[in-house]
Amino acid sequence: MNVTKRDYYEVLGVAREVDTPGLKSAYKKMAMKYHPDRNPNDLESEEKFKEAAEAYSVLSDPQKRAAYDRYGHQGLQGFGANQGFDPNAFTDFSDILGDLFGLGDMFGGGGKRGRSRSQRGEDLRYDLEINLEDAIRGLSVDIQVPRLDLCSRCEGTGAEKNDGLVSCPMCHGRGEVIYQQSFLQIRRTCNQCGGRGQIIRRPCTQCRGERHVRTERKLKVNIPAGVDTGTRLRLTNEGQPGLNSGPSGDLYVVVKVKDHAIFERQGDELHCSIPINIAQAALGTEVDLLTFDGLQTVKVPEGTQSGSRIRLRNLGVPRLQASSRGDLFVHIDVRVPSKLTREQRRMFEQLRETLPVENEPHEKSIIDKVKDYFM
Ligand SMILES: [Zn+2]
Ligand SMILES: [Zn+2]
Repeated sequence: MNVTKRDYYEVLGVAREVDTPGLKSAYKKMAMKYHPDRNPNDLESEEKFKEAAEAYSVLSDPQKRAAYDRYGHQGLQGFGANQGFDPNAFTDFSDILGDLFGLGDMFGGGGKRGRSRSQRGEDLRYDLEINLEDAIRGLSVDIQVPRLDLCSRCEGTGAEKNDGLVSCPMCHGRGEVIYQQSFLQIRRTCNQCGGRGQIIRRPCTQCRGERHVRTERKLKVNIPAGVDTGTRLRLTNEGQPGLNSGPSGDLYVVVKVKDHAIFERQGDELHCSIPINIAQAALGTEVDLLTFDGLQTVKVPEGTQSGSRIRLRNLGVPRLQASSRGDLFVHIDVRVPSKLTREQRRMFEQLRETLPVENEPHEKSIIDKVKDYFM
């Protein structure tokens, strides 16, 4: 190891002020080009690959990089690990090389691998459609969620008890295979047993070796008052069961609120429209309205214009996780009769004689003021 070492920046072909992503991508390029998998029995590539790995291991470590920048290769002696090629250095690179070669496990390390790896179960989604009334009042609903449960007969091994499982002949029960590839010792999860170390000789008769059985779970879900389309309710641990005693996933109940024939919802407000005739509009009236809180009397004051709205406080939608409610707005739709009896016509003609004629076009702002009058 007394050969003169090349400059690390030169090795990776980067400028001295390169940032972390730049460094990573330069190393990735080198590793891809000189990787032993792609250059079998090519000693020169092997050296280049090692050299790049070493350069990256130093430059990607801020402390080592600072020392190297000041004192060159000499500056690294205090770190010890730099004497020649350190295969452990590769452990840190598995994220880089893993997605490069699809070999996440290639460099081993860290006990994450093998048959004991526990895995969290997947989250599940359940779409629940409810009507507006239930969204306003809240409800408790029974749902049936299909999911895969661990087979109770084999407890998830997929094999019959006693002699159903045998040690994997490929990896001899280790769950991984280790072999030498040029200078690298490579471990891979065993393909034969998928890392479990055992293979099924006699499949479980209940799950046929699938390890899981399809079940329908009945769950009671409490839907709080105020939910809206898109509200997600999380039921912890009600998702897919985990593997190897990993935790279960969660179940998300995703709410959709159906449209209502009379009331339109806008956030925590409710809106509806009530037609009245011109006599009611001119003289004022009271209208009964069946709301989600029972029958309400809507007082329409005399001289109410078409398009004005009347606010009924606290009769809207409850706010989630709050004790307050939105308001209900009644939009007044003044209807002009399109057919008149002879008697009505006579009375309208009399009215026409007495009413002021105001046919000058409005300024726009006046229309807005009229609309806002009851807000
Ligand atoms: Zn089974
Ligand atoms: Zn195996």
